[in-house]
Amino acid sequence: MTSSITRLDTIIDRLHAQGSRVTPQRVAILKILLESDQHPSAEQVYQRVQAEYPMTSLATVYKTLTLLQELGEVQNVGTYNEVARFDGKNTAPHPHLICTRCGEIIDAPGGAMLDWAEQLARASGYHISAQRIEFFGLCPRCQQETAAEETPLAGAQERSQRD
Ligand code: ZN
Ligand code: MN
Repeated sequence: MTSSITRLDTIIDRLHAQGSRVTPQRVAILKILLESDQHPSAEQVYQRVQAEYPMTSLATVYKTLTLLQELGEVQNVGTYNEVARFDGKNTAPHPHLICTRCGEIIDAPGGAMLDWAEQLARASGYHISAQRIEFFGLCPRCQQETAAEETPLAGAQERSQRD
């Protein structure tokens, strides 16, 4: 918690330093992004900030997201089902696990990519400026839910085959 407050202060200072307006709405958007490990969409950030500041526009959310991406404080982690998702909590390069059923995105446990990127840079001569690794599948909850949905059907099929 302490470190996220310190980071918040640092980012606010940087926004001030570059002449960006730092409104209470922007600070609220910033806090949501820094604290969420759910990789929210702009729309989800908008809904959360509206609980506190009902007058906030979606345009303000997009503008703030753009500013924070320019500062390198928020990453666009990709577009799933045509919706862009953002990570403002974990700024180190890391792989993501993505559930293709419910759209959950989590940081891969223990997934530092820096060593691998350095090896690749050395072997290829590339200067690597960005990296993205994604694993797709079903989260544990969706596995349970699909198993629960499929069981009665499978049972019915077996019965009709027997009849
Ligand atoms: Zn899922
Ligand atoms: Mn992430």
